[in-house]
Amino acid sequence: MPTTPERRCPECVAAVAHCHGTLIQAAAPECTDTTCADLDIALHPLVINLADLTPVRSRSVA
Ligand SMILES: [Zn+2]
Ligand SMILES: [Zn+2]
Repeated sequence: MPTTPERRCPECVAAVAHCHGTLIQAAAPECTDTTCADLDIALHPLVINLADLTPVRSRSVA
């Protein structure tokens, strides 16, 4: 089996705490990654706010 990461992610490389799921901001925040342990917006490059349903990139991810 390959040992390389499934995708190139600078935050994985840097061992920065983050989540690859999409954070859904609502009355009860959710994450599309079922293994997500922390629903902090700062950990999520991809965030959807149900108030406007507009996908927002809080960080640029190549
Ligand atoms: Zn990553
Ligand atoms: Zn998450």
